[in-house]
Amino acid sequence: MKSAFTGMLAAALFVATAPTKATDLQDAIAADYEYLGKLFTHFHANPELSFQEIETSKRLANELAALGYNVTTGVGKTGVVAVMENGEGPTVLIRADMDGLPVKEKTGLPYASTATQILKGKTMPVMHACGHDMHMTSLVGTAMRLAASKDKWQGTLVLVGQPAEEIIAGAEAMLKDGLYERFPTPDYALGLHVFSTAEAGKIIYREGTMLSSSDSVQITIPGIGTHGAAPHMGKDPVVIGSQIVTALQTLVAREISPLDPGVVTVGTFHAGTKNNIISDEAVLGLTVRSNSNDVREALLSGIKRIAINTAKAAGMPDDKLPVIKHIVGTNVTQNDAALTARLDKTLKAKFGEDRILPYKQTNMGAEDFSYFTETDEKVPGFFFIVGGTLKATFEAEANGGPAVAGHHSPLFKIAPEASIKTGVEAMTIAALELLQK
Ligand SMILES: [Zn+2]
Ligand SMILES: [Zn+2]
Repeated sequence: MKSAFTGMLAAALFVATAPTKATDLQDAIAADYEYLGKLFTHFHANPELSFQEIETSKRLANELAALGYNVTTGVGKTGVVAVMENGEGPTVLIRADMDGLPVKEKTGLPYASTATQILKGKTMPVMHACGHDMHMTSLVGTAMRLAASKDKWQGTLVLVGQPAEEIIAGAEAMLKDGLYERFPTPDYALGLHVFSTAEAGKIIYREGTMLSSSDSVQITIPGIGTHGAAPHMGKDPVVIGSQIVTALQTLVAREISPLDPGVVTVGTFHAGTKNNIISDEAVLGLTVRSNSNDVREALLSGIKRIAINTAKAAGMPDDKLPVIKHIVGTNVTQNDAALTARLDKTLKAKFGEDRILPYKQTNMGAEDFSYFTETDEKVPGFFFIVGGTLKATFEAEANGGPAVAGHHSPLFKIAPEASIKTGVEAMTIAALELLQK
């Protein structure tokens, strides 16, 4: 009785957990992973900072050239463009970002980075703490599959190794360097990001807003310097700056719709040299986030209005009003409705409904992917998330094990095999759908 029961249970378990038969594409990617796994380890162990991706871009360029792509380097400083023309048809751009971060890796992985680079004159540790190593490896994996199946598609592939995503500058630099003039202009732009906070094997997206806009703004507030014991002889930029900081919070609280999210964070506030000196300058550093271009504009113009008028209210003369400088910015990353609907159908048919999850924003993180879509050509874009952490790791965390580290953490890590295989498969399927014969 006992043995019959366990036998039945084993059979039931087997049925429940037996994997469905692998497709030809999955078999091919599994074979490619012998190579891709080592490539990932190489990228992970050798990260480089934004616009310093010298060896990284060289390696990526060599990988793509070896597969038969026509490769150009140095596009937007360190960017790589690899083109494959395969008859009449649409042009599909696939983008992977390449840069690491100034973070000292503490994962203890056997392939952990010990790399350093010079940043603003200082030697800094460098780590792939956002998963861009996975993005490059997935790009090469996708390039392998598409090069090996040229009989199954027609059109043009433009594969992009983008520098400097982490400082929201690389996509803009590539576009300014003639990406859409020197190379075929895409009809579609595709990109992915691995998330350590999502389960490996899952693919996550939605129509519309995927990631927020992000703007870095600097406000330089002049004051009139004087002795700290004689404030009436000057104008205190620390007090004016403090009023600006609190007044800025009313933009989100009182000016934009409560149903439309926005963030105005003052991350830095620098002023003064000594306790008893009223400084003649204060400088604020802001990050501004939104989920729509209207809110973005409202926040940016509101920051200007509040800064200038707060200084005026303090009695600052017209020639000494705050100077507002927009340092860098990127629009909201939007998934095109028609393109998302089309790829959603294809991905769900290939992966099954249970591996596709609807994307839910949990913070106002940003990407500069929108530079590839928000050109005069208005290229429809599709950006999706690939899970990066094994289900067992999440279960261990829930049972009191180590917390799953987020992006940019010194403990950030992903499960490479499961996430790269899923990334390559999803991207290859998406490209084949758009380039079908
Ligand atoms: Zn990042
Ligand atoms: Zn990233």
